[in-house]
Amino acid sequence: MREIDVKVITEKVRDLCIEANTDLGEDVLRAFDQAMAKEESPLGMEILKELKGNAWIAKEEKVPICQDTGFAVVFVELGQDIHLIGGDLKEAIFEGVRQGYQDGYLRKSICHPFTRKNTGDNTPAIIHTEVIPGEKVKITVAPKGGGSENMSRVVMLTPSDGVGGIKQFVVQRVKESGSNPCPPTIVGVGIGGTFEQAALLAKKSLLRPLGSTNPDAELEKLESEILTEINKLGIGPQGLGGRTTSLAVHILMMPCHIASLPLAVNIQCHAQRHKEAVI
Ligand code: SF4
Repeated sequence: MREIDVKVITEKVRDLCIEANTDLGEDVLRAFDQAMAKEESPLGMEILKELKGNAWIAKEEKVPICQDTGFAVVFVELGQDIHLIGGDLKEAIFEGVRQGYQDGYLRKSICHPFTRKNTGDNTPAIIHTEVIPGEKVKITVAPKGGGSENMSRVVMLTPSDGVGGIKQFVVQRVKESGSNPCPPTIVGVGIGGTFEQAALLAKKSLLRPLGSTNPDAELEKLESEILTEINKLGIGPQGLGGRTTSLAVHILMMPCHIASLPLAVNIQCHAQRHKEAVI
């Protein structure tokens, strides 16, 4: 059995918090380029250029892509043949978040829901742990901004709503969100499971690289159809009009109860940040 000291996990989480907040992925930059090739609105085109320039400055100067450096959402795939030593995994991740947000000069955005008193160190983090075969641990840090998270929804559709109902709800959600989630967005969709699982599927779908195809041909087709409808809305970059309201729709699906059709829409802004490391 392989031993890993949780101090290594703290260090990785620290570095990933900083990296994710300052270095936008190549897949997102390529998606901006592809959107510029199709954008008809001069203002929309200008904004897409600004977003690319902003990402470049953030990377060069090691400053955050956006002032909202997000809730630290951490996905852990933990090999079942690993023995963690030196402390508690959850506390090790929290400490990594603390250090990352402090050392990286990242805004601390987490507060008490009633008093709104800031926790002061961007903890707690949201941790999703999955035990997998093997003796490696994969950590993905995905900081999530409040503006786009606020526009997300979970709904329990009825089986008779079907695929048509799913399409209608997702497009309507993007329409009602308007400029709030800082478009162009990536629309994460979770279908099936239970109430909470649908939300997790939607969030996880956002980790898929932009430009990649869905391994399920039926979902790939549905993603394309929904994206086409969304980009007919005319909301455009930053909500100022144009074709590029969303860069992609990503869907994850699993079986559901015969009585229900859970659906979650997790909207992600253009600051599509996540970084991963394997230990
Ligand atoms: S929604 Fe995204 S781009 Fe907009 S303020 Fe929040 S993190 Fe920044």
